[in-house]
Amino acid sequence: MKLLEGKTALITGASRGIGQAIAQQFAAHGAHVAFTYLASAEKAAALEKELRQQGVKAMGFRSDASSYAEAEKLVDEVLKEFQILDVVVNNAGITRDNLILRMSEQQWDEVLTTNLKSVFNICKQVVRTMMKNRGGSIINVSSVVGLTGNAGQTNYAASKAGMIGFTKSLAKELGSRNIRCNVVAPGFIETDMTAGLNEEVKAQYIKNIPLGRYGSPDDVARVCVFLASDLSAYVSGQVISVCGGLHT
Ligand code: NAD
Repeated sequence: MKLLEGKTALITGASRGIGQAIAQQFAAHGAHVAFTYLASAEKAAALEKELRQQGVKAMGFRSDASSYAEAEKLVDEVLKEFQILDVVVNNAGITRDNLILRMSEQQWDEVLTTNLKSVFNICKQVVRTMMKNRGGSIINVSSVVGLTGNAGQTNYAASKAGMIGFTKSLAKELGSRNIRCNVVAPGFIETDMTAGLNEEVKAQYIKNIPLGRYGSPDDVARVCVFLASDLSAYVSGQVISVCGGLHT
């Protein structure tokens, strides 16, 4: 059963990892997909081609999520091409891990701007069109670290916790307009972002995961399909952890 037939979605940071899996799952469920990428035009073109094979409209846009001006331009262009936006997934994110004594102002600013300000940038631009359409689903990809904290990640955890407060507030502001806002909080997912962690840290993580394995990008993407679809019509302002039971 296709759950997103006729819907149009915008996904940020979809050239790889979780964002790419969300784009793939959305297209497989019949959604038209606009997505952003930061650097790799080649990967974006390959993804466009792959998504179109599902019989949906798909288009990649180069856009830096941390820039307010670029978000404004992006949403303008997406609406020109797709006319409507039913679903927005704020997925773009980075880490710049360091202990507080060694963390630079730049590491703090980069993470807060890319992970948190980006969510404001995009939401600010899409809310008007969703209000006009009397409906929409906004999905913000946070992290369990935003709920639990993590040594060496004060910047990342603050940005991800900030996304949760932002989303809950937006859900309260926009509920009367039938716009739902939810957070997905992945645990340890195997992507390029986590590939750099040393084996000792990875082994430690897996010991604490009740389901006994790392998550895949598709594990997260499938929850996003649920939140984007009408199956979740009465779900808003919630945080859904996708972490194999790591955080309960
Ligand atoms: P990734 O590094 O593989 O992919 C991140 C994507 O975001 C890339 O496509 C990158 O180009 C894009 N991006 C980065 N900065 C951007 C910017 N300024 N503008 C536009 N795009 C930008 O990481 P991932 O593991 O796929 O992570 C995706 C999201 O999931 C992130 O928000 C991350 O914080 C979150 N997350 C990941 C994990 C995990 O274990 N991998 C766990 C919890 C949360």
